[in-house]
Amino acid sequence: MEFRFCPHCATPLDRQVRGDRLRPVCPNCGYVHYRNPTAGVAVIVRRDDGALLLGRRGPKAGTGAGQWCIPCGHVEWDEDVRTAALREFAEETGLSVRLTGLAAVESNFHDPRQHTVGIWFHGTVTGGALEPDDDLVELGWFFIGALPELAFVTDRRVIEGLGTP
Ligand SMILES: [Zn+2]
Repeated sequence: MEFRFCPHCATPLDRQVRGDRLRPVCPNCGYVHYRNPTAGVAVIVRRDDGALLLGRRGPKAGTGAGQWCIPCGHVEWDEDVRTAALREFAEETGLSVRLTGLAAVESNFHDPRQHTVGIWFHGTVTGGALEPDDDLVELGWFFIGALPELAFVTDRRVIEGLGTP
């Protein structure tokens, strides 16, 4: 799981204590590999009757294929989190949205190779046509009391924390 070679100069990494943890350190160029979570973003869209838009994850999604999630994705290196949320939602659902607020922030530990900090926004649809793409193969509206099998425990926690719209 741990990196074995320096990503900058390809020297085999040592293990040294840095900041109270044993971390991979490059003996050649001094690079220290701080293994940090990346950021994920998701947008919660609800109909007037309270149903939520969820997507069923396809084989391209990797984690949780066949199960459902709030449409989500990863923030690119140079991308603002809100821009990422709009982009990912459009890529996966075909819909453009306006973000209307922050819903939740949670730590995701479901992928042992890449932990993430998830940021869930509320959004309202401003245009487009519902069409699953990218990681998703199906889209559907679900009531909180009748959810399908969810891929991520944090999606469930966030949904359970939602009130009536
Ligand atoms: Zn190095």
